[in-house]
Amino acid sequence: MPKQNSLLLNILNRDNPARKVLAARSVDRGLADRPHFPLLAMVGQTEMKTALILTLINPHVGGVLLIGPRGTGKTTAVRGLIDLLPSVQRSTCPNGCEPEAAYAQGFDAICADCAQKLGRGEPITAPDRMRLVELPLNARLEDVIGGLNERVALEQNRVHLERGILAQADQNVLYIDEVNLLDDQVANSILDAAAQDQYSVRRGPLAATYRSRLILIGSMNPEEGRLRPQIHDRFGLRVVVRGLPNEGQRLEIYRRVQTYRTNPYALVDAWSEETSAAANEIVEARGRLPRVALTREVERLGLGWIKRLGIDSHRTEITLFEAARAHAAADGRTKVNLRDLRAVAPLALRQRRSQFMNDYFTAQSGEDKQISRVVRGTPKAGRV
Ligand SMILES: [Zn+2]
Repeated sequence: MPKQNSLLLNILNRDNPARKVLAARSVDRGLADRPHFPLLAMVGQTEMKTALILTLINPHVGGVLLIGPRGTGKTTAVRGLIDLLPSVQRSTCPNGCEPEAAYAQGFDAICADCAQKLGRGEPITAPDRMRLVELPLNARLEDVIGGLNERVALEQNRVHLERGILAQADQNVLYIDEVNLLDDQVANSILDAAAQDQYSVRRGPLAATYRSRLILIGSMNPEEGRLRPQIHDRFGLRVVVRGLPNEGQRLEIYRRVQTYRTNPYALVDAWSEETSAAANEIVEARGRLPRVALTREVERLGLGWIKRLGIDSHRTEITLFEAARAHAAADGRTKVNLRDLRAVAPLALRQRRSQFMNDYFTAQSGEDKQISRVVRGTPKAGRV
């Protein structure tokens, strides 16, 4: 008998039934605090919900790419994460000092104020809710990595480096809609920063290094342009989002969207129990994650699949195993099993193969054989 799923996996996997929300009283609380469509009130799309939650549990999954046509709920799902975001420890210092820097590099790595506080045993970080930072569609490189503050330069006749979107997205979720339409330079700077957890900006004599521990979520409509393969590979998980074929489900989507339009609070209230349960479980799973280990058997199987599928990128096994660890943590376990690996395999393995690299390696191996024949040929006497 299969083991009972944890609360979190149960919430994600069951198709939440229709609720009697239409009867609820409409409350006009103004547009300013219009709530988000709850992720868990989305009909179907279990794979998308699972991928998004796994990356919250384990940022080392390497982000999520949602691929699908318009109107399939990609942006709605990402914004729905807002109510599920956990807290992180964030620096309370305007310079962004963190205790880890002091432990690793000594008190010189932090400001004098923070050094004094740490010396007195006072904290220099405080818990703060993760945020969803959306990259504006036409963001320039300056906006993303930061740069000179032109206003300060003009008014006060001094140069001042300003933090960009990447620095603001530190320990937050960075969402890039239409990632395939992003300028190459901007895309590269974001992916590099996300991979290295930090980035540096240099403007004339000024230089600064910022932390950028991001959870990256991208979405794209393949009808509007392909994503370059090298960018594709840098997202850990990929979800192909399609419209639901079932008429009953489609009707249910229509009803929920109508309810959300006319009375968003009623819809949010109807799902508030699942939302808060899932948010608590995510915190638990994040706490459990450091103790979650792979077994030798799971490692061997995962690597075997990757080899059989002919996937080259080493990011594949990192994503596959980290996603499997997150899945086990979500299920309340500290040992990864085959079920975890199977559950995350399509997310981690799809669209990793490159026809270009396949052709390239085939041609290369032909050339290598030719070289080997030539160099192993018996040299004729007297000619060496
Ligand atoms: Zn400080």
